[in-house]
Amino acid sequence: MHDRCASGLDRCVGRPARAGARNADRARSLSARCAPAGHAWHYCRRVPFPACRREVEAPAKIDALIEPRWIAPVRPAGALLQGHAIAVDRGVIQAVLPAAAASGLYAARNVVRLPDHLVVPGLVNAHCHLDYTSMAGEFPPPTSFTDWIKLITAAKAGWSYSDYAESWLTGAKMLVQTGTTTVADIEAVPELLPEVWEATPLRVYSFLELTGIKSRRDPHAIVQQATDNIEALQFGRCRCGLRPTWPAASTRACAWC
Ligand SMILES: [Zn+2]
Repeated sequence: MHDRCASGLDRCVGRPARAGARNADRARSLSARCAPAGHAWHYCRRVPFPACRREVEAPAKIDALIEPRWIAPVRPAGALLQGHAIAVDRGVIQAVLPAAAASGLYAARNVVRLPDHLVVPGLVNAHCHLDYTSMAGEFPPPTSFTDWIKLITAAKAGWSYSDYAESWLTGAKMLVQTGTTTVADIEAVPELLPEVWEATPLRVYSFLELTGIKSRRDPHAIVQQATDNIEALQFGRCRCGLRPTWPAASTRACAWC
């Protein structure tokens, strides 16, 4: 037995049919998670997934309602939603729900309609050297990997901290503009942290580079210094770690750190 609500969504009001029992279980689970936001999830045999509905009458005030043409959600895998909206408040997604229902459930300060856009989860860049962004296109195509490394090393010798910072931030801006929200970045100049972290909305995992070619320093001293740097670095969404490196770029002991 079904009832049509004011927002146009079908909702179940009777006992769950046998075929809908699995959806009903999922709805109960989702309702428990959504309770703080005043949401409840209702199952229905007519729709593929439980629909999210607020139990209170007054529309909830939120920062934004985004209505793209398509949404590719993380879950369920492989789904492509049409006619759906994303409710966002204080930088956090509150719900992904049918657009027809969203306007009745939320009073958004800003409605963003994107009739030609696909919204996807934030991309993850798993290996990046933000420090070196400004070197892009500066060198002729190298004949070998070691020649390429030599070019980079020579260029770095003339760079100041300001050059590195500007290069880092340029790279971070490029990532944000192309849909990346998380980056694993190899950091050659840990002195830039955490200031550059604070200057970007990215979630950054900075892996400190452990190289000792020039200085011929004691590998254990290099590791200790990097560990001290990591312990001293604290900043909300960003994290720091050591970069496992490769033998040609470091002393033998450091290569297995
Ligand atoms: Zn790399």
